[in-house]
Order: sequence, then C-alpha cells, then structure tokens
Amino acid sequence: MSAPNHIPLTRPTLDDATIQGVVEVLRSGWITSGPQVKAFEAALSAHCGGRPVRAFNSGTCTMEIALRIAGIGPGHEVITTPLTWVATSNVILAVGARPVFVDLDPATRNLDLGRVEAAITSATRAIMPVDLAGLPVDRDRLHALAKKHQLRVIEDAAQSFGSTWQGKPIGAFGDFVSFSFHPNKNITAIEGGALVLNDEPEAKLAEQYRLQGVVRTGLDGMECEIVGGKFNLTDVAARVGLGQLPHLVEFTERRRVLARAYLAKFEAAGASRLGLGLPLPNFTDANWHMFQVMLPEERLTVKRAAIMEQLQASGIGSGVHYPAIHLFKLYRKLGWKDGDFPHAEYAGRNILTLPLFPTMADADVPRVVDALMGIIRQNLKP
Ligand SMILES: *Cc1c(COP(=O)(O)O)cnc(C)c1O
Repeated sequence: MSAPNHIPLTRPTLDDATIQGVVEVLRSGWITSGPQVKAFEAALSAHCGGRPVRAFNSGTCTMEIALRIAGIGPGHEVITTPLTWVATSNVILAVGARPVFVDLDPATRNLDLGRVEAAITSATRAIMPVDLAGLPVDRDRLHALAKKHQLRVIEDAAQSFGSTWQGKPIGAFGDFVSFSFHPNKNITAIEGGALVLNDEPEAKLAEQYRLQGVVRTGLDGMECEIVGGKFNLTDVAARVGLGQLPHLVEFTERRRVLARAYLAKFEAAGASRLGLGLPLPNFTDANWHMFQVMLPEERLTVKRAAIMEQLQASGIGSGVHYPAIHLFKLYRKLGWKDGDFPHAEYAGRNILTLPLFPTMADADVPRVVDALMGIIRQNLKP
C-alpha cells in the first residue's frame, strides 16, 4: 500500500452501483459474454452515432481484427506514429504487414499529417493514427488524405474515448475506430476494448474473428471458415463498462478542470522560462486522458529517471508514455535506428506523465507543480 498522502499517476473511479451490478452478474448464473456485453455494445453504439460497435477483451485485438477485416497482411504497409503504446505497431507486425513510422508534430505530439504523403508507397494500405493523451489528430485532414490515396483508417482511439472533433464524438464518424477500456483509460471495463465498424457485414466478420471464426445457426448449426481467436469480453467486465458510461461527461469535465489548473499553475511558476514543455491548451476536443510535460533535456544535469525518483520521494507518481517504439530491440532488428525520428526520440527521452484522474483533489495540482518545478530548479545547468 502507498502512503496516505501519495498521489498516484492514475486510478479508476468505480461507483457503488457498478460494484453492486457486478455482484448481480456474478450471482446471475451467466458470467461470460452474454446480455451485459450486448447492452454494453448497444450503449457504445449510441455514443458513436448509431454505428455498429463490437466489444472485445482488449484494445489491442480490436486493432488487429480491424487490420484483418481490411485484408491487410504480408506485403502491405501501415503508416503510424513511433510515439505510442507498442501495441499499435505490434499488431501491424502480427498480421504480417510492415509499420511505416512518420515523425511527430512536436506541438501536438501526434503523427505529423504533413509528413504522411511522403511516406505513402504502392504497398500502403492504411493509416493508424493515435490520439496521444486524448488530443485528437485532425480528422478532416486525416480522412481527406485517406480518401485521396484510397487508404483505410484504423483510428487507435484507445486514449480518446470521450474526445470530440468539431462537436462529434470520436467514434461517431470515420472508418474503423478502436477503443481500450484498460483501467488507466478514461472509462474502464477492467480489461476490454471496442471496435467501431462501418456496416453489419464488417460487424459479423468481427464477431467471427472474436471467437474462433465460428458462425452458429439455429440450435445446433456451427460453421468455421476463417481462423479467429479468443477475444470475447466477459459479462462481468461489460457490467463494469456499463457502469462507467453514465459518468463519462463528468469524468471528462473533471479532467479538464484539473488540466486547466495544471496549465495555470505551471505558467505562474515560470515553467516556460525554464523550458518545460506543456501540452496544448485544448479544452473543446481533448478528453485529457493524460497531462504530459516535456522536460528541457538540454538545460538539465540529470535524466528523466532521476526526476521521477525525486517525485516518487515526494509522494508523487509519474509515468512515461512512451519511449520511441522504433528504438526497441525488436524494431532495431527490423532496420530502424537512432536519428530516424528526432521529435519522437526527444519525446521518448523527455516526456513525463503527471497524475491526472477524476478523484484527484484540487490541492494535489499545486503540490505536483511545486514539487516538479523545485526538482527542475535544483538540477539546472549553471
Ligand atoms: C491502452 C492502449 C492500447 C491497447 O489497449 P489494451 O486494452 O491495453 O490492449 C493501444 N494503443 C494505445 C495508444 C493505448 O493507450
């Protein structure tokens, strides 16, 4: 157990009705995929403008299944960002295709859409953008690019459930949209994911990929034509997700209040003068899944790990989202190297996620800011 005054990086918010609901599911005699999953899918579909939605047991398999439905495999390329959870590019490798990384826009920390066209080849089949920290990638430019080059789009919206674009919820438009309900995400199903699809045939295919490729008809009919996996969500998990959805607006509002307070406090404390990078102040579209700062590497005498250690000693959790993927051993073996994507590499070394979650107290914000600013000031080059 952590000390009572410890501020964790994040924590889920589960109400008593949800906990009671889970108990009812456990007592109901049906605990794996069943009526709760159906109800969760219907609620998610309502959130996504009535588009077909299917639930899964992770936000990783959702992306892999979208790639399979799109027919992407060996010989194909998929354009994505090198600054994301490694699941995004791992699923591209898993289907036998090749990830093609495009560097970040350092302001948004998302895939630089201005560099995408130069990366398109005759093998390119899809773009897989990520809304890092919940800040949406420009959907107008993204879908215009995809349309122009006849590419599929698989939005890795694992972090942007509850974000919007031009007033429309992420998920309510576009091509494939993938969500995750891991406990760190803005709403959780303990573990889980959802895929927004274009039509019923795609949804039927998603159901096949979800469970061993099997199609049932009548009481005793079973057929299997494709290789599926074991990706179904349990009713227990779905009940947790259902209990989260009514709180989405309130969670997002609370995250925005805390993020605004962080920005104001950092500015007042002279963060910009010290070269500390702050996130874009987007309070219309972003769901503030994370609050991430960029440490001023060139002005510091210590690396990020030492700063995280000192934060920890002050009772403050912090995290790294993420190291640059192309520098992982697996990806180096596939040919990537230092210097390939300078903005992603800088962020990979210096990005730092600070505590942000709906039940965080107002007073925690100045505590985190003062602690971090103090640590930075103590470790500045002369
Ligand atoms: C969480 C996350 C995923 C994967 O979700 P899981 O549910 O953990 O499989 C994928 N991409 C990004 C950007 C994420 O943050």
